Amino acid sequence: MGETPQITTNLKMPSAMIKSADPSFWAARLLSSLSRVDVSRSCWTTLVALILPVLLLWALKRYRKMQDENRRPFPFMELPQELRDMVYENLLEDPVYPPPPPCQHQHSTLDWVIPGRRSSASAAAQRKHTSTWVFLASKQVYKEYMDLLCKKATFHLAVSPQNYKPLSTSTPSSPSSSSSSSSPPPPPPPDTRIWNLPQHALENIRTCSLKLVTTSAMLGVTDPRAMTSSSWTLGQRMRSQLKHMTSIKSFTLDAKALGDPLWNPLWIWYHASQSFKLMGTEFSDTVPIGPRLNKITFSLDTWSPGENYLARDEDKGGLWTWYCMKDHAVGADVGPEITVREFCGKLYQECGVCRPESDGEGGQ
Ligand SMILES: [Zn+2]
Repeated sequence: MGETPQITTNLKMPSAMIKSADPSFWAARLLSSLSRVDVSRSCWTTLVALILPVLLLWALKRYRKMQDENRRPFPFMELPQELRDMVYENLLEDPVYPPPPPCQHQHSTLDWVIPGRRSSASAAAQRKHTSTWVFLASKQVYKEYMDLLCKKATFHLAVSPQNYKPLSTSTPSSPSSSSSSSSPPPPPPPDTRIWNLPQHALENIRTCSLKLVTTSAMLGVTDPRAMTSSSWTLGQRMRSQLKHMTSIKSFTLDAKALGDPLWNPLWIWYHASQSFKLMGTEFSDTVPIGPRLNKITFSLDTWSPGENYLARDEDKGGLWTWYCMKDHAVGADVGPEITVREFCGKLYQECGVCRPESDGEGGQ
């Protein structure tokens, strides 16, 4: 009996739920809430419509300002000199005169399809020698960068059949100048310079490596026995340009002889070394006396048994001394009046350290 009231109370709840499940009741509630949402939404829309253009305008202004700032060049020249030098130092590359060809890579229409097509060697070659654009920035940057280059880099100067222009090329112009005696402009004096380097740069170079790649034709004579090293025209031209190198600390020469069926490479080595040995000494034929060489090496374009090299022995007052390929002293140089025969003897003199058993044999 006591259980029935409990049932009735339990029945009350579903009846209330049924009542509230009436669709009309819910529709009324939904409509009233929707009208409230509508009011607040229209409020928001107005607000957003007002704020959004303002925000957009602000963003646009900021973007334009940023663009303007990006477009303005970085005030590099306002940096202190030390900082500018630090930037330049990252760009330093040993200058090569004459400069190598810009890029030997053959451009192809397939390059854009396969980026990896470019060989790593050509890419490396392209990466190299890219800092010369700095020279074009301004006169001041040019001067500052050149100064640093002269102080810290090694200048590689070369004379080879590729850049050797005999002075006789100016002679064809002489008949034209004689025929055009009526025309007013006189022909400019022939440019005897070998490297396109300004004098102020030459004066500041500290380290230089000179490479002579010589053929017998470059000696400019038909019989090498008839010439003296000091009268070698190419040698004279080089000395007259190199004499401006007054700040040099290290200066080396590599005399490379290109094979020739008629001539012994000895003649090239002999005249090349003889014409530069006295540079920078009291016996120099230039004013100023020019830079003093520290080392002269000899090489061939083909295989060779290994030539000794010449270097100054600073312990003996800078006397020229012959060294083997493993840097053992082989003997002192004869002097400026060395003959070709003596030169040959020194060039191939056996080293007593490397080949002690042949020491007695060499003395015979
Ligand atoms: Zn040796």
